[in-house]
Amino acid sequence: MGLKLNRRVAAIKPSATMAAEARATQMREQGVDVISLAAGEPDFDTPERIKNAARKALEAGLTKYTATTGTRELKEAIRFRLKADTGLEYELSEIVASAGGKQAASNVINTLFDEGDEVIIPTPAWVSYAAMVELSGATPKFVPTREEDGFILTPNQLRSVLNSRSRGIILNSPCNPTGAVYNEEQLRALSQVILEAGLWVISDDVYSNMVYDGVAPHLFCVEPRLRERGIIVNSLSKTYAMTGWRVGFAVGPREVMSAVGRLQSQNSGNPNSIAQAAAVEALTGPQDEVKLMMEEFRRRRALVVERVRALPGFALTHPPAGAFYVFPKVAKLLGAVWNNITLNSGDQLADMLLERAHVAVVGGTDFGFPDHIRISYANSIPKLNAAFDRIEQVLRTLGF
Ligand code: GLU
Repeated sequence: MGLKLNRRVAAIKPSATMAAEARATQMREQGVDVISLAAGEPDFDTPERIKNAARKALEAGLTKYTATTGTRELKEAIRFRLKADTGLEYELSEIVASAGGKQAASNVINTLFDEGDEVIIPTPAWVSYAAMVELSGATPKFVPTREEDGFILTPNQLRSVLNSRSRGIILNSPCNPTGAVYNEEQLRALSQVILEAGLWVISDDVYSNMVYDGVAPHLFCVEPRLRERGIIVNSLSKTYAMTGWRVGFAVGPREVMSAVGRLQSQNSGNPNSIAQAAAVEALTGPQDEVKLMMEEFRRRRALVVERVRALPGFALTHPPAGAFYVFPKVAKLLGAVWNNITLNSGDQLADMLLERAHVAVVGGTDFGFPDHIRISYANSIPKLNAAFDRIEQVLRTLGF
């Protein structure tokens, strides 16, 4: 007899991004020289000033519990950074720091949504939103965007999925995996539909500092009325190359955030105390490294767009306007036979590339677009070149 697990937990799959990265690590441990373009993890080291703040915190003995929702210093730092970057002002009681953007997002989703609710997720979308919504008991309602629209959700597409069960929407600009960035006009048009429908809106701003031209306008600046029903989720992982430290946060109306705090007080408690001290430095210190990292991502983007477009069977209509992913369509390669297996999806192509080219990427299925793959360019230019050389070679041997 099979082990009986909680129904919702039993139904969830491992995160596709994490699973792809884990497979790459496993092969590396077996001595295979795998180049990973799978996880969205900057290859840069955490800046020294931030590591120093952690060292100091350790020396000062900041090794005890903190307030569940984060130290006062961290909340002040979050408030300061949000105001400096977006102009949006929040009270400390409207801020909850968590163990990474993932915990922040999942707390908010679990707090706001319930059985019978539908949560709208424009696709392609990051793989974990749907699982988080399902764990809350609500149902994800996917709305595919069109490649020819640059993967931007239109007001009509949003209207077409609204019904009496619609409770919320998750927006992510710049978007993982497409790199799409909404402009002001697009946000304004969407915000009218969101307001009319009375939806909660979660703005996932994890890549908001990673925009190649200008800045990404913020939904709540474009339509301040949305703040009453709007939550910001963000993380320090990408902006400051701090993936392993696990610091993220959510910001929104006090009543919601107080419930998020209660939830966190029961399910985990405060985020790591040393990481919180490091995060204060990250958010309040000089932001020069962020600019330097972006310059490097800009160079990589140019290279990756060129190399992806040169690959047989890969189509990339829009270069990413933000974040550090490309999401090419690989439909032309599907139907090809490899090892007696017909490649039917981007996922199978990703498996093949890992086995044959020793390059890890993520298949598009869990992003909602099975005939695509996601390539992260959070890796060095020599590694990126080597990875594309290998992919090209393998595609050639397959006759493309
Ligand atoms: N968000 C990143 C990605 O999409 C990190 C992995 C994860 O948390 O899914 O690769």
